[in-house]
Amino acid sequence: MPDSLTTDNPSMRVFDQYESNVRAYCRSFPTVFESARGHLLTDQAGRRYIDFFAGAGALNYGHNPPPMKRALIDYLTRDGITHSLDMATSAKAAFIETFQSVILQPRNMDHKLLFPGPTGTNSVESALKLARKVTGRSGIISFTNAFHGMTLGALAVTGNAFKRGGAGVGLSDGTVMPYDGYFGEDDDTLNWLATMLDDQGSGVDLPAAVIVETIQGEGGLAAARFDWLKNLETLCGDRGMLLIVDDVQAGCGRTGPFFSFEPAGINPDIICLSKSISGYGLPMAVTLVRPEHDVFDPGEHNGTFRGHNPAFITATCALDHWRDGALAGGTHKRAGIIAEALNRMAQSCPELKPEVRGRGLMQGLALDGDGLAEQVSHEAFRRGVILETSGPASEVAKIMPPLTIPLEALSDGLGRVAEAVDTVAMNARSAHARVA
Ligand code: PMP
Repeated sequence: MPDSLTTDNPSMRVFDQYESNVRAYCRSFPTVFESARGHLLTDQAGRRYIDFFAGAGALNYGHNPPPMKRALIDYLTRDGITHSLDMATSAKAAFIETFQSVILQPRNMDHKLLFPGPTGTNSVESALKLARKVTGRSGIISFTNAFHGMTLGALAVTGNAFKRGGAGVGLSDGTVMPYDGYFGEDDDTLNWLATMLDDQGSGVDLPAAVIVETIQGEGGLAAARFDWLKNLETLCGDRGMLLIVDDVQAGCGRTGPFFSFEPAGINPDIICLSKSISGYGLPMAVTLVRPEHDVFDPGEHNGTFRGHNPAFITATCALDHWRDGALAGGTHKRAGIIAEALNRMAQSCPELKPEVRGRGLMQGLALDGDGLAEQVSHEAFRRGVILETSGPASEVAKIMPPLTIPLEALSDGLGRVAEAVDTVAMNARSAHARVA
């Protein structure tokens, strides 16, 4: 494989020279991408990469899925409206009706659709503001290693110290509690939460809401157990706190069902969706709100780009995947293949104390050692696989392909990741031997 992948790549200079220092992913994957289809990305030099990153969960249906692309091109060609703030458009009507009939009604959900600005963090902000207005309380409980976005409200309920540090102002009104498994699997962390809430001496005021991810996408791929989520719902209901599920990354089929919390049998008060809701990688977000909590006055949560019509077009088309159980079944099958491969990789390097984490097509391998998962990402890139890390110390190599990835490509990619893990383990052994 060409060394240009790992050394200074001249085509990256324009970014190095003129783009802000904050750029990040282009440092992990230092090549200039040109085109993409399905699970494959192609760079300017014509090299192809298997995409195990899928736009951080924004490309669950792969790159440029043909039916969505056709619908989008048709819409643009007939001068369908692109920008309309939150005015009524036929594209929005079609999305709302289809979302009702394909997603909400079959699940007996009567949530209203609130369109915030078109990103995950916008959805989280709308959820937090709304919960505060509903309850008249300001506090929000979040969990260790949570990630909810980069705007100040969302950052206040995010765990990562580095990201929090970037805020530059105090992050207030958040209280952090241990996520499921934080103290090991034998400890039921909800006991801590209930005790703190019910003890008049604990210093924890009754909050407006609890916000939770069912699987911590950025925070290290810890997955909450279904009974923990069910008990969390009960705990919230008993105390008049709203339950917000941030399904920005784990939703839209990433773990199998459309909503990641479905197997837990819960019905959250507010649900945040973004990333793959448009199906095409177009910016879009929707916050689902139980009708009794739909209390914003008209225009109270505003924004110029709420309801981007091209995204409605592809989002409506994406919902065709949910008219039967085929996609969820396929995800289940692929999840099994990934789990098996990760377990094999884990067995091959016990000295790195590997741990397989996650659920569905959101799984990964945690490695105990500074920078090891990042090295796996680097080695995978050299082998033509785009793979990111997760966790506060980037300690998890994360496997997150499009849900539609062909089985053969999935195995091919996993084989290359296994080679990457082998190489990193070998290097770690040699380094260890040199020290010893
Ligand atoms: N919530 C979760 C669970 C996420 O994973 C992310 C993005 N990684 C966000 C919120 C923020 O989404 P965005 O980057 O679109 O603002």
